[in-house]
Amino acid sequence: MAEFDYDLFVIGGGSGGVRAARWTAMTGAKVGLCEEYRYGGTCVIRGCVPKKLMVFASMFSEAVEDAAGFGWSHTGSDFNWPFFIKKKDREIDRLEEVYQTNLEKTGVVLHRARGTLTDPHTVALSTGETVTAKHILVAVGGTPFVPDIPGGEHVISSNEIFHLKEQPKRMLIVGGGYIACEFAGIMNGLGTRVTQFYRGAQILRGFDDEVRGHIAEEMRKKGVNLHVGRDLVGIEKTDSGLKVKCTDGTFSEHDVILYATGRVPMTKGLGLEDLGVELDRAGAVVVDKYSQTAVPSIYAVGDVTNRANLTPVAIREGMAFAETVFKGNPTPADHELIPTAVFTQPEIGTVGMTQEEARETHDIEIYRATFRPMFHAFADRDQRMMMKLIVDKPSRKVLGVHIVGPAAGEMIQLVGIAVKMGATKEDFDRTMAVHPTAAEELVTMRDPVPG
Ligand code: NDP
Repeated sequence: MAEFDYDLFVIGGGSGGVRAARWTAMTGAKVGLCEEYRYGGTCVIRGCVPKKLMVFASMFSEAVEDAAGFGWSHTGSDFNWPFFIKKKDREIDRLEEVYQTNLEKTGVVLHRARGTLTDPHTVALSTGETVTAKHILVAVGGTPFVPDIPGGEHVISSNEIFHLKEQPKRMLIVGGGYIACEFAGIMNGLGTRVTQFYRGAQILRGFDDEVRGHIAEEMRKKGVNLHVGRDLVGIEKTDSGLKVKCTDGTFSEHDVILYATGRVPMTKGLGLEDLGVELDRAGAVVVDKYSQTAVPSIYAVGDVTNRANLTPVAIREGMAFAETVFKGNPTPADHELIPTAVFTQPEIGTVGMTQEEARETHDIEIYRATFRPMFHAFADRDQRMMMKLIVDKPSRKVLGVHIVGPAAGEMIQLVGIAVKMGATKEDFDRTMAVHPTAAEELVTMRDPVPG
């Protein structure tokens, strides 16, 4: 009889867990996985995928306005929120099925249950079953964090925004990170009157300062009522909506309040600390470069480790885990130079160092282009694009690229390859421009910004 029920048991069926389970099963190992909610995890069920569908939906209002600038006549029309939500739900159901089928096809045994660790090789399932495994992978992800505020029971998080029955007419978004800024653009584009409060001096902390300033200005131009340096002290439900008192003593009223104030790892009640698995102050599982915890049989990947909380990163961590543990090829997950996009409107694409980071450790040159893309200029839309290269003066290496504008996410994926390969500014210069595109500016910036 085998010593354990499984070679690998995965807790969590999101991006990281599913990929690790499938790759491990493909080596011939016996793999089990438990998921308490839905296969696909945050990204597919209530994150990147439905969010991107909402971004697409929200872009039509501006496209129709721009069309008028090209000679099209149109009559305005309203967004049908219930139609979209229903169709989006069908698409998410379809994708969940794909995830489940792909797991089953590779032979992964699925358990619709919550799993709790009871010893370094045992998981107790909420169905009452107990399973044992040689290795256990914790891939339970994160969950929205909402601070305690008076009237906090009236707010929603990003989990609920995808299921609102009606489109709010007036919405308050609290936070200045990825989710807050993306939803400000989405809801504004869909026709909701959006107010956004951010407690700090400028949104998107951690991004390049010029990018932050540029996107804040563009968001305001599009109609987002963005207030920085403002938080709220309490919420009161009235007959006409949700009345909010702000830190500066002012009041405002909204139909829906979305808190997008960060996410926390879902480690509560998993039994990890009792087994000697170390958690950090944020509750994230502490792992080494091979995603191994302090207990040798227990590994963790994805948002639960709070390294870089992005779907492709969780997937790579899951693959590196399978390669290391089941293919005998020690492979650390590579967290260097991760290209990423924020689906604000306009989009942000970024890879590598910000100007603020780079100047701490390098002698740098900055190349910058800001311009009105041809499309917007002709449509008479007041929207500017920004591109910025951070270059290491002695080696000429491009340390960072930052783009704000249409298709910035698509561009940064490709520029990311060059930066990852160690391209120099001169490599960019030698590359022929593709004309007429916005991206050509990346290879035609001649002079560094003075000073
Ligand atoms: P972020 O950590 O990006 O932002 C949280 C925001 O909430 C910050 O502006 C923070 O302010 C603010 N905040 C935190 N606590 C409080 C509080 N008590 N009161 C008021 N404001 C507060 O989290 P998100 O929830 O936006 O996103 C979570 C993660 O999900 C991201 O970090 C990202 O990794 C991932 N994600 C990625 C996307 C993408 O790739 N396009 C899209 C969506 C999410 P401060 O800056 O002052 O701390």
